[in-house]
Amino acid sequence: MRKPFVAGNWKMYKTVAEARLLLADLIPGLSTVHNVEMVVCPPFTTLLAVAALLEGTEIGLGAQNMHWEAAGAFTGEVAPAMVAELCKYVILGHSERRAYFGETDETVNRKVKAALANGLTPIVCVGETLEENESGRTAEVVSRQMKLGLTGIELPEALPLVIAYEPVWAIGTGRAATAAGANAVVADVIRPALTELFGAQVAQEVRVLYGGSVKASLAAEFFSQPDIDGALVGGASLKAAEFVPIVQAAAQ
Ligand code: PEP
Repeated sequence: MRKPFVAGNWKMYKTVAEARLLLADLIPGLSTVHNVEMVVCPPFTTLLAVAALLEGTEIGLGAQNMHWEAAGAFTGEVAPAMVAELCKYVILGHSERRAYFGETDETVNRKVKAALANGLTPIVCVGETLEENESGRTAEVVSRQMKLGLTGIELPEALPLVIAYEPVWAIGTGRAATAAGANAVVADVIRPALTELFGAQVAQEVRVLYGGSVKASLAAEFFSQPDIDGALVGGASLKAAEFVPIVQAAAQ
């Protein structure tokens, strides 16, 4: 049995003061939810304050990115150990980082290895663009992202891994994939890639999330799919009234 997993990607939203206000609603709302691994991923500048506010709750903390090097002259970057001091999770290879900040399968791979070496649980994002989708290349692109992004990772080190299937055309557009369509990509492309990388048993153990315009009203349908184990939620994670019911749906 794979434990349901829901993470909120706050993207570049929320100052410390705003994060406090959101958590004042989120923490009580999520306090009655159990048996779901629930995570918030706020901006770096709020991690310390959010970590303190989450103490004693079941809500985990994640970062949205990190560098792969342990330390060095990399102005503006944050090292794996710095993230691991405060967080258990880190989102890696988000499509916004691939599109706007030049991340490649190779840099994602370095980051995944560094995250695992530092005891972090990476939430690795894969997904095709609209053009790739419309030209029938979804399987090819997602399979490549999986294999290059996760190459050279050994078991049992790989085991905490979480994958998020996030079709780029569904992120922040209000146009979610169909639940059945997303499930098909997970079942036919992502789990087979995991099987090639780590074997059939691990492929059945790794949690695979769907991300892309998930909102409360859609959550139950995604979570009823056999190969989808939860969600990576962007915009809807910024509102307790949306995020709490999404996490509750994962607990059902
Ligand atoms: C995301 O940022 O990972 C995401 C899925 O965003 P949204 O839910 O807003 O589409």
